[in-house]
Amino acid sequence: MLFADSFKDCVVVVTGASSGIGKAVAKLFLQEGAQVVLVNRDPERGKAALTELREISPKCDAFYCDVSCEDQVKELFSFVGKTYGRLDVLHNNAGVSVGGGLLDTTQEQWDTVLGVNLRGAFFCSKYAVPLLQKGERKAIVNTVSELALVATRGSIAYCSSKGALLQFTRAAALELAPLGIRVNAVCPAGTESEMFHKDMASCEGGYEVNVARLAASYPLGRIAVPMDIAPAVLFLASPGASFMTGTHIVLDAGFTIK
Ligand code: NAP
Repeated sequence: MLFADSFKDCVVVVTGASSGIGKAVAKLFLQEGAQVVLVNRDPERGKAALTELREISPKCDAFYCDVSCEDQVKELFSFVGKTYGRLDVLHNNAGVSVGGGLLDTTQEQWDTVLGVNLRGAFFCSKYAVPLLQKGERKAIVNTVSELALVATRGSIAYCSSKGALLQFTRAAALELAPLGIRVNAVCPAGTESEMFHKDMASCEGGYEVNVARLAASYPLGRIAVPMDIAPAVLFLASPGASFMTGTHIVLDAGFTIK
């Protein structure tokens, strides 16, 4: 256990928990003794993750909803309230990356990306607050991106959504500080996941070439795996980070120091 008994019996909601970073975070919380609600949209993928993670701990539930839909998010937190009566940690992690550059991104793609990546975090945070007030840890952690700190070509909606999510983190932290609720973010760079695979494979040259190019641009010389990111999420939610709010941890193998 990395965090002693910090999360034993804590109630944790992880959105985007069916794969990638969210699944790794859920796994780590389960290993730390937490009760975890896995949230994703696709029931088949969600059930597969639930079966896998219940091998680690049975203290694991799944809820299928689209975080960009307010009514579905209300139902999610109504379920959490009825089942557990409180919430300790919300990890806003669900995300999508569609569309391209400024000139070829459609309104639909723009709305999808901003809807999931930004509005989803807004809805989840808003409806989690009453339950977080009843919890012990009182922490929200948002998965932002290093693309909130630097820009890239060909990803206008995604970069915009993550820049806004970082500012949402700060604004929410200010508002929720009087309630004792801390709001922080992680900013990962390239991390092996389904989204990352799709993005890299769609670039000219294909997956292997693009990953090798990206890894070479990072001072540490490699891309991340989801378990490189997960401990930072738990740290921000832990008592060890009790003096931190409205800030972010950059996990980018040194990319943004160059
Ligand atoms: P991933 O493996 O593709 O996971 C994305 C997760 O989001 C899945 O669980 C997916 O669930 C869920 N999701 C998507 N749309 C949803 C919606 N409308 N409602 C609820 N859940 C939804 O990708 P990942 O890389 O781990 O991404 C996790 C987060 O990390 C994202 O916010 C991403 O922007 C961020 N991030 C990733 C990287 C990277 O290089 N991988 C770098 C920086 C930041 P379904 O099973 O329903 O599809």
